[in-house]
Amino acid sequence: MSLHEQSLPYIRAVSPYQPGKPITQLAREMGLAVDQIVKLASNENPLGMSPRALTAGVEAMADLARYPDDFALKQALAERTGLGVERIVLGNGSNDVLDLIARVFLAPGRSAIFAQYAFAVYPLATLTAGAEGIAVAARDFGHDLQAMRAALRPDTRLIWIANPNNPTGTFLPYPQLRRFVQSVPADVVVVLDEAYNEYLPPAERCETTAWLSETPNLVITRTFSKIYGLAGLRIGYALTSADIADLMNRVRQPFNCNNLALAAAAAALDDHQFVAASYALNRSGMEQIVGGLKRLGCTHIPSHGNFVTFRVADAFLANQRLLKQGVIVRPLVAYGMPDWLRVTIGTETENLRFLAALEASL
Ligand SMILES: *Cc1c(COP(=O)(O)O)cnc(C)c1O
Repeated sequence: MSLHEQSLPYIRAVSPYQPGKPITQLAREMGLAVDQIVKLASNENPLGMSPRALTAGVEAMADLARYPDDFALKQALAERTGLGVERIVLGNGSNDVLDLIARVFLAPGRSAIFAQYAFAVYPLATLTAGAEGIAVAARDFGHDLQAMRAALRPDTRLIWIANPNNPTGTFLPYPQLRRFVQSVPADVVVVLDEAYNEYLPPAERCETTAWLSETPNLVITRTFSKIYGLAGLRIGYALTSADIADLMNRVRQPFNCNNLALAAAAAALDDHQFVAASYALNRSGMEQIVGGLKRLGCTHIPSHGNFVTFRVADAFLANQRLLKQGVIVRPLVAYGMPDWLRVTIGTETENLRFLAALEASL
């Protein structure tokens, strides 16, 4: 038997995650200068990173001989959330945390539920744990909670939900979501991925951490990759019961978050000015892009995140033409949405570049 055949069949069956095209790769492919390229493909923060996080990271550079110490960040998150440190699990990006949850609860013979058009990491974490993924048909591109509840099987151990959802930007009202979480059997884990939580208008936000006391099977995940602008440092976290956190910590690599990420994240958490500026830029940019898409006659899915998904007659061709003009957006073929493209909200200038390039591409 070949080495390939000796690998785990459920690993062989997985298609690798497809990241947004890196700027340098497009520069090489098209012979463009790096600074001519606008990347709006990975929901990164167009303002870059918090200057306070940068300073903290640079300071932390002086002490890289030491193994990481996660005390300060966990303490800061405990203060922010009102939860004890024993209920917080840090990850090398929240993707790491999602993988930890899957490793604790999923295995061959078990299943996990996610929505059609859910974040690609949910099927990936499910399948690489050897479990079966149950994709539940979307409703208006979002989660159909009733159908997800009905899809529960005796072997189902986990339900993945993103709110707002990526790549569709759909949002589940909190009263409905809370009733759903309460209706899930206590021995099935519900993962509530809140990567885009900070982009919700304050009036729409809800402190879901308050639900943890009534539903200890809930795991809330958040990230520093989006509004905090630290995607390249890889840091995120889970908030859950002390019991689930303890289990996750058993599979977690002892030093999964590095010194620079820990220091920068703690500083970013306190940079309210940067977060507010990022939020405001996203609001105005969303209006600008949605207005532009309407002008161009493109249907879009109303989004609650820092991106918007829109339809064009020939998404493959439109994407090729955008790339030729140095504009990187995200094709959604891998999500089963071949007619759609997802664009991240950029700066005003980047949004203008995108809209002009799109107009020329249609
Ligand atoms: C971007 C994103 C994340 C964040 O992933 P990190 O590993 O923290 O960078 C998590 N969930 C969803 C749905 C996302 O879109």
